[in-house]
Amino acid sequence: MVQQTALTDIDRARYEWQVWTPGFGEEGQAKLKGATVLVSRCGGLGSPVAYELAAAGVGHLIIAHGGNVKPSDLNRQLLMTNDWLGRPRSESAERRLRDLNPYIEVEGINSNISEDNVAELVGRADLVVDAAPLFEERFLMNREVVRQGKVMVEAAMYDTDASLTTIVPGLSPCLACLFPEPPPAWKREFPVFGAVSGTIACVAAMEAIKTLAGFGQTLVGQMLVADLRDVEFRKMKVLRRPDCPVCGHLESPAQD
Ligand SMILES: [Zn+2]
Repeated sequence: MVQQTALTDIDRARYEWQVWTPGFGEEGQAKLKGATVLVSRCGGLGSPVAYELAAAGVGHLIIAHGGNVKPSDLNRQLLMTNDWLGRPRSESAERRLRDLNPYIEVEGINSNISEDNVAELVGRADLVVDAAPLFEERFLMNREVVRQGKVMVEAAMYDTDASLTTIVPGLSPCLACLFPEPPPAWKREFPVFGAVSGTIACVAAMEAIKTLAGFGQTLVGQMLVADLRDVEFRKMKVLRRPDCPVCGHLESPAQD
């Protein structure tokens, strides 16, 4: 349960148009303000996720992404700018998010999720958005959110295909239920338009907002699959694996 933080007059003016959303209101806004969200990687997926969460007034964002900005990042990693080439991605992300919204806390971590930092970073978050490209990192994050009972919005894309689900440990399948092994064709570099990663990223940001504020229906137990090549969107039911080595031992929801 996210602690609400009292809104100021600046908040009321800034978020006025979203507060009008039925079921959200000032209470939902106060929950966003009190929330901490960890975004793993701020690439093609994570950049628009973080940007939308900052715009919506999530009170504390932790953005973990190592390495420096490269020219090939700039077609999709929208928190990176040309003037930041060769400098840390996490600094570029921090700077862009603060320019957009100076009233939230933004913390850039100049490192990807690893065994060394995953427990501490997940421990500080109310919710995690996994936007990492590699299955090793995604499995690591999955294990940790299941261990700590945290909700994780899980977004992925390849070429013009994208998928999205929201993992609530014990209630929905975890990533290891869905992918017992990394898909054999998965690789680090793949074809991508920023408009494809950005599309699924915006839906992922909305999953995070709805989960934190407690309104609408999220993709718990369902997966959204999109193909932007032919503009197809569909939702399918996904089930837990009773023998899942990561979450199979959980018998009841870890979250309400
Ligand atoms: Zn599982």
